[in-house]
Amino acid sequence: MNYTIATATHVGRVRAGNEDAVFPTQDESTAGPVVVAVADGMGGHAAGEVASAIAISSAVGLEAGSALERVEAANAAVLAAAAGDVSKAGMGTTLTLAVFWPDGRLEIGHVGDSRAYLLRNDRLTQLTIDHTFVRELIAQGRLAPEDAESHPRRHMLTRTIGMGNVRVDSLDIYLQPADRVLLCSDGLTGLVSDIRIARILTSTPAPADAAWSLIEAANAAGGHDNTTVAVVDVVE
Ligand code: MN
Repeated sequence: MNYTIATATHVGRVRAGNEDAVFPTQDESTAGPVVVAVADGMGGHAAGEVASAIAISSAVGLEAGSALERVEAANAAVLAAAAGDVSKAGMGTTLTLAVFWPDGRLEIGHVGDSRAYLLRNDRLTQLTIDHTFVRELIAQGRLAPEDAESHPRRHMLTRTIGMGNVRVDSLDIYLQPADRVLLCSDGLTGLVSDIRIARILTSTPAPADAAWSLIEAANAAGGHDNTTVAVVDVVE
């Protein structure tokens, strides 16, 4: 299997800085194994930017390891950095990390509300589960899904990298030629519906064009958050 990877990140139209981070920062084509990751940092005094950068660099820098081990390494690194600097105390980040293997295996490790999606035969499926307060209320039957978008605590996360001994979700699937995988921060999914994301992905053949079209869609919808995307095409 071969993978064509394009990533893009944008500050948006409202925020002063970009607290998202992405890997790789250069587009590439490879047979794998290759790591692709999106992180969305949070914390005052630029701590969010530091948290997402540390998470990505420590996860990617691990010489070998599963997606799960890489996300756990990121958590340990962010915790250690926060413990060593009082101005960074309490910083955190989401991390959605994928490892693409030569045999088509896709491993994902995930904490937070960034997302991974699979586009297969023009159908978009969300692979990850958001670790948000609102999603837990829905799962418990205490909130109707249609009320989630307007819930005052819709951005509140129940799991983040850098908040102690976090439980990491992991999943494993096999990819097929012509599959397309999207990793993204909530700057995209908070403003652009899944239907519209699917339409952009199915109508834009080149991964780099698709990545930037998604960023443009988020900015056209207000761009009130940083937006980061990684588009990975599976080629035989
Ligand atoms: Mn965000």
